[in-house]
Amino acid sequence: MAKKTVMFNWKMNPPTIREAEDLARASDHQGVVVIPPSLFLKPVADRLTRAKLGAQDAFYAEKGAFTGEVSVQELKDLCVEYVLAGHSERRHTFGEGDALIAKKTKAILDAGLTAVLCVGETEQEKRAGRTREVLKRQIESALSSVGGNRSDQVILAYEPVWAIGTGNPETPEDAAETIEYVKSVALGAIRRVPRVLYGGSVDGENIGSFFAQDEIDGALVGGASLKPDEISKMISVL
Ligand code: PEP
Repeated sequence: MAKKTVMFNWKMNPPTIREAEDLARASDHQGVVVIPPSLFLKPVADRLTRAKLGAQDAFYAEKGAFTGEVSVQELKDLCVEYVLAGHSERRHTFGEGDALIAKKTKAILDAGLTAVLCVGETEQEKRAGRTREVLKRQIESALSSVGGNRSDQVILAYEPVWAIGTGNPETPEDAAETIEYVKSVALGAIRRVPRVLYGGSVDGENIGSFFAQDEIDGALVGGASLKPDEISKMISVL
């Protein structure tokens, strides 16, 4: 079985550099990607020896009058290797649509970085039986312009919106089934089967049951990645 990856998305946490450095030390393990707020990328990078560094978002333009934004070149200069695109909080809290996410994904890949494209249906879409239709749209719109040549720089994260931060994860069996579908759609778009992570209320207790599924290549973790005891349990299954 191929090695699993765990990505720790800290979101807008913790409040101080000191706490960020402590979390970085606790997370510094092979197979981990630490994704801190961009303000903390440098101090976190300085503390990592085995884990890789990721960013939560990037703007598509190279440089210029885009107050508040961060470019892929700026991230690259800080040793970032992975960048999330289309996280559900960007889609639903900040109103990012498919077209903007496609531009960001392209900019990440053009810079030679790995894009972690996040896709997932809302509870309403799931209840309406629209999960596959939504995933297909999100994947194809973001990856249609990628082509085969950058396909090895694409990772996907299947994160059902209703499972994020709720303590109510998808079952490992259902997540694996949906991820099989995600892989088939991605294959059509980039002519290659990418690695696909599951995200949504993963923690130290349940991560092993997700990793027991062959289709699931890893986990994208939010809340539990801020708790040292959860971090060590998750690292222990890598
Ligand atoms: C996330 O932010 O991508 C996430 C999966 O969060 P949580 O683990 O808290 O559900």
